[in-house]
Amino acid sequence: MIFDIITIFPQILDSYVKESIIKRAVEKNKIKVNFYNLRDWTRDKHKTVDDKPYGGGPGMIMKVDPIYKAVKDLKSQAKDQKKLTVLLSADGKRFNQKMAYDFLNYDKIIFICGRYEGVDERVARYVCDEKISIGNYVLTGGELPAMVIIDVVTRLIPGVLGNKDSLKEESYSERFTKEYPQYTTPQNFKGWKVPKVLLSGNHKKIKQYRKRQGENSLNIK
Ligand code: SAM
Repeated sequence: MIFDIITIFPQILDSYVKESIIKRAVEKNKIKVNFYNLRDWTRDKHKTVDDKPYGGGPGMIMKVDPIYKAVKDLKSQAKDQKKLTVLLSADGKRFNQKMAYDFLNYDKIIFICGRYEGVDERVARYVCDEKISIGNYVLTGGELPAMVIIDVVTRLIPGVLGNKDSLKEESYSERFTKEYPQYTTPQNFKGWKVPKVLLSGNHKKIKQYRKRQGENSLNIK
């Protein structure tokens, strides 16, 4: 799966993709994460990507034309692939695990990361397929939201996680909306003890305990 990120800060997430599960997914060719500098699609010598809002108001708005050109180019590189173009926006559709599973149906997802006061509305109307928010708060840019989505989707790709059972019983999985509590060594820390049933070796009882402790899934998948 290919993730293309259009941003004015193409280096901002460098270290994140070079560590842990995302790094391994790249190495196993399960995913490719490409960062593109939006300024490469500008024509003026200042490489302008923003301007003042029509009608007045604070701050600057990202212009539609470089974004349109960038998306057009990236789409044309992937003619036969199933593509989705996502604009990150605080007022978009709320991202969730179900959406992440749906995203697995695409070969390439192009993310448009806003900055400043946001993005010219024509991008939402005419350039992107989906406008997505990662929560009810305002971040300074769309890069972290893009990475959040990439992270969530990547761990769902078969073969990415070391243990495929990890996906079966975690929060928002087929079985649970909230995973049961987990413990590891030591058995007793400052008098805070691990529940006895988990030490019993009785798998049936452990399963029952976990079922009681976790919340049943609403079958969101
Ligand atoms: N003026 C905008 C508003 O009131 O919704 C906020 C703009 S924000 C400072 C700059 C960019 O950050 C947005 O264009 C968007 O790409 C990204 N962003 C901020 N919060 C986000 C969120 N909760 N989910 C997704 N993207 C977000």
